[in-house]
Amino acid sequence: MPKINPHLPAMQVPFIFPIIDAKLAAAEAQKCDEPVLNFGVGDIALPLAPSIADAICKAVEEMTEPDKRKGYGPSEGYSFLREAILKNLYPSFGFSIDDIFIADGINSDIVNLLKLFANDCTVGIIDPTYPIYMIANMIVGRQKIVMIPCKEEHGFIPQPPKEHCDLIFLCSPCNPTGVVMNRHHLKAWVDYALAHDAIIIFDTAYSSFVRSSDIPKTIYEIKGAEKVAIECSSFSKSAGFTGLRCGYTILPHTLSGQLNSSWKKRQVTEYNGVAYPIQRGAEAAFSPQGKLETVAQVDSYLQCAHILREGIKSYGFTVFGGNDSPYVWWKAPKGMKSWDFFDLLLKECRIIVIPGVGFGKLGEGYMRVSGFTTVDFAKLAIERIQRITS
Ligand code: PLP
Repeated sequence: MPKINPHLPAMQVPFIFPIIDAKLAAAEAQKCDEPVLNFGVGDIALPLAPSIADAICKAVEEMTEPDKRKGYGPSEGYSFLREAILKNLYPSFGFSIDDIFIADGINSDIVNLLKLFANDCTVGIIDPTYPIYMIANMIVGRQKIVMIPCKEEHGFIPQPPKEHCDLIFLCSPCNPTGVVMNRHHLKAWVDYALAHDAIIIFDTAYSSFVRSSDIPKTIYEIKGAEKVAIECSSFSKSAGFTGLRCGYTILPHTLSGQLNSSWKKRQVTEYNGVAYPIQRGAEAAFSPQGKLETVAQVDSYLQCAHILREGIKSYGFTVFGGNDSPYVWWKAPKGMKSWDFFDLLLKECRIIVIPGVGFGKLGEGYMRVSGFTTVDFAKLAIERIQRITS
């Protein structure tokens, strides 16, 4: 038996989804005409945009032509997609396509980015957090973790810690709290990273949900970020690619420590790229028709988040997020724990939301409500939630 990585078996992962699935199955098995409404899932609820489907099909057909054969593509991604990303999303930061790397999504890139940094780095992770930041560090056995509290008194916006961190994981719009960082908040982090010679790994999975002009869609809107920030994003939520898989990571040449060339070395040696038709589909998200269709989808999720946020608030509950973001962070009634509120909502309203404690200790007492649903379901949920208010 080879010596195994001891960190995986030792890892304490809060497996909340199997618990939720079991509770959902039990609720569905009850004799009740009312279907359970699920606002737990952060996955897309709408079908693939036709212009993207069309581009993917055309690319597959193209591959059947003898002179258009496509074998392994460039590991960093085809230049047509990198150019489309540069032109549409990062036109004004002095970047080139060599700063942009295509891969199959944010989660894989987060895990792989850790290879750029020594194992004894001190890593800052927000609490509550999107779990992969913690899990990826635990799998490689990183010991030095600084938890950065996100508390109600600061509107759940993470504040730079007093302690030194080498690497910091941030996310805006944030999963799970749904809150967004403005320029002032982000500048504090860029200043911290510059002062501490640190690197920020900035996750913009939900940047396409930002509609307010004072909220940055990318950390590079903050001067100096090009020296200290790596940005990870994907088409998962902006264009419905959760089942197709395509993302991009920006490592500007201006980053210290030759990170751009190290990442390129890693990508070309370890990775054989995203499928050509999928990259053509991602490119189509930037076509005029693709933009119309995908923006309409994001608008619909934003509308759902708005209905959920305002509806819950109208009953006197405290809520955060849900603006420029698909997630609403719902405070449980006074003194109630996340799982107790979960059980109450499932029993009385037959709705599922995620207990905030599943995202970290400081998520206790809150719930994450997902706007990845339809307007009709969001309205129905608000009608049902009235039952627990009287
Ligand atoms: N980052 C955040 C904050 C997410 O919420 C998600 C998915 O829910 C991901 C990353 C995963 O993105 P991808 O599908 O690109 O791996």
